[in-house]
Amino acid sequence: MEVTPRTYGHFIHGREVPAATGETFPSVAPMTGAVLGWAARGAHDDVERAIASAHQGFASWSARPPYEREKILLKCADQIEARFDDLLNLLIDESGSTIVKARYEVNYAVSVLRAAAGEARRLYADTLPNEKPHRMSLVVREPIGVVLVISPFNAPLALLAKMIAFPLAAGNAVIAKPSEETPLIAVELARTMSAAGLPDGVFNVVTGFGAECGEQLASHPLINGIALTGSTATGVKVGQLAVQSMKRMQLELGGKNPLLILNDVDVREAADIAAVGAFTYGGQICMASARIVVEAPNGRSFAEALAGKAERLYLGDLRDERTAYGPLINERAVAKVARHVQAARSAGAEVLTGGAIHRGLVFQPTVIYNPPRSGPCWDEETFGPVAMVLEAAGLEEMIAIANDSPYGLSAGVLTRDLVRGMTAARRIRCGAVHIGTHSFQSDPLAPVGGYGMSGLGRSGGKYSVEHFTELKWISLELGETPRPF
Ligand code: NAD
Repeated sequence: MEVTPRTYGHFIHGREVPAATGETFPSVAPMTGAVLGWAARGAHDDVERAIASAHQGFASWSARPPYEREKILLKCADQIEARFDDLLNLLIDESGSTIVKARYEVNYAVSVLRAAAGEARRLYADTLPNEKPHRMSLVVREPIGVVLVISPFNAPLALLAKMIAFPLAAGNAVIAKPSEETPLIAVELARTMSAAGLPDGVFNVVTGFGAECGEQLASHPLINGIALTGSTATGVKVGQLAVQSMKRMQLELGGKNPLLILNDVDVREAADIAAVGAFTYGGQICMASARIVVEAPNGRSFAEALAGKAERLYLGDLRDERTAYGPLINERAVAKVARHVQAARSAGAEVLTGGAIHRGLVFQPTVIYNPPRSGPCWDEETFGPVAMVLEAAGLEEMIAIANDSPYGLSAGVLTRDLVRGMTAARRIRCGAVHIGTHSFQSDPLAPVGGYGMSGLGRSGGKYSVEHFTELKWISLELGETPRPF
């Protein structure tokens, strides 16, 4: 589809505005290399302007009754649905998503806003029993203020929508700093929600680079909380900045996720499930099933079935429903994946299929058998279509391999044996375990987040609302209490 490039602004106080410096940067389609549009390149003055707008927005939005916030968020969802095809097409082009993945994202954005709308009414808190007979104690929940949402490239609409929806429902205002790889879809989301009636200043977007405007936002004393989804390295950096002014932080970071395949499941069916976990969006998913641990004696037969499945994947046009996945996001990502595969190969792993570029930025689906349990391919996020398969003697060893990681985001366990499945679920140290399927799952109301280097806090449903609200104790003295002097 022909897309005419246009120049986008930041989205501040209900309208697009150019960067104060006038600078822009291109948003490039990873599949074709075409420039889709020019985004405003954020810097100091833009940050200040967005923060001033968000504080104004916060003052009025937080004072609205919950049912009004609910009503407006529902209208935002409707408006996204009304613009479904525009958003879908931009998403396909800008992030290199297949039509299937992009459709999922637009639907998810609609769904998460509707799920969040209802949370506006549920800012429950408590009354407390007291030690003093004449005192009454209430606990109330209040929005924290202006929340900075820093989002990644890999689900640039679905994740951004989720990251803003719950803080907004709770009465906060947000400023989003989307990935520099996918700035345009964020501006379009803000425009769409503004057109639906979201008041000015409640959702602002500053586009640009981490080091140029992300750090300024993250360290700004007038930002009250941060929700970041991104790599662990970015999380550490942003966390260090944010703690200087004691900001509330929710960090959803990287993962190296295990999929355990117990020997009561059919290896061909397991291979079909594992392929979705490992190769969706070319493996550029935080929860991708990158380490597949198979119970003996099925290791090799499973790995061969997965390699066969990988070789049959169709890697065509992004708008062709049959296409399994498209390009990686940029040249750097391709080079990293190639480097990881090469390191595993040099260390003695068997590359059963793949291991090279298919075309352009599209990397072949790659299956590695018996990788060494150290080195970049095993230890680091590869963020590419690479599945490592390892055989293990039994459940104990499988759980030990699953836990042999500084990350702890998500896991899958394929088995029909619920006792062994639940044993694994309770003993794997990570934020989510999915029995009967792969590790890449999402639901608007579920708590998403990780153990260890996979992050801090949980996002989704009431868990986000709790995270982005303050608790306040209010007490009432209702009678005569003896005074000490
Ligand atoms: P990234 O860390 O490169 O960038 C994420 C965001 O942080 C971008 O908006 C970027 O501009 C910003 N940023 C980078 N440096 C910054 C700085 N110094 N100060 C402020 N902001 C800064 O990540 P990415 O490549 O866009 O996304 C992929 C990563 O995100 C992977 O590691 C993946 O696992 C992770 N991720 C995690 C989850 C989850 O739920 N845990 C979900 C999706 C992606």
